[in-house]
Amino acid sequence: MYLCGLIFFMIHLILFGPPGSGKGTQAVKLAEYFNLTHISTGDLFRYEIEQKSELGLKALEFMGQGQLVPDEITIGMLKKKLLSVPDTHGIIYDGFPRTIAQAKSLDSMLAEDDQQIDLLLSLEVPDEEIVKRILNRGKSSGRPDDNDESIIRTRIQVYSNETAVVFEHYAGYNKSKPINGLGSIDDIFERLCRCIDPLVVD
Ligand code: AMP
Repeated sequence: MYLCGLIFFMIHLILFGPPGSGKGTQAVKLAEYFNLTHISTGDLFRYEIEQKSELGLKALEFMGQGQLVPDEITIGMLKKKLLSVPDTHGIIYDGFPRTIAQAKSLDSMLAEDDQQIDLLLSLEVPDEEIVKRILNRGKSSGRPDDNDESIIRTRIQVYSNETAVVFEHYAGYNKSKPINGLGSIDDIFERLCRCIDPLVVD
């Protein structure tokens, strides 16, 4: 296992990849291990849906179809969340940004505080494995968008059409890295840690 030591500056890390690639599972582990704040826009939307808030009801219209929630709603929610984050060593973004507009907004928000995205790690998993994993997760997740194969395939399509290009956006700054998303949870975690360790100061 890797010894990361202490972090003395704030890091901003995007955990990227298609739905079902393991972002959520790995983000929770990484946040704990590196003492970072985990922000999942999917979780934020599901919380709003549970609360039956106006934002939640609006988001549900899109989530239920496997489509992205419109940028202005998502970016507004993320901004509000960032303002409420207490002192932290850094942030892991899980499921955000999912469009170029979201990436550019995030870059501008961070630039206002002289900060930037340090690294995007993209979990690479073949489509058929994703469908299998999400259907399996659907047995216990209770998520309606995990239980219908056609919605799952729409989500994969949306990822290819609208989200994958975010990898290229950060590749342009030499910040994007593909990571093999197959194998045990621990193996994948170690692959991710190996990339994050150099960002962390002893
Ligand atoms: P997730 O939990 O990340 O798989 O997200 C579940 C659903 O929430 C997605 O299929 C979208 O409908 C919505 N969602 C989550 N994050 C975003 C985002 N950054 N932009 C737009 N929609 C999002």
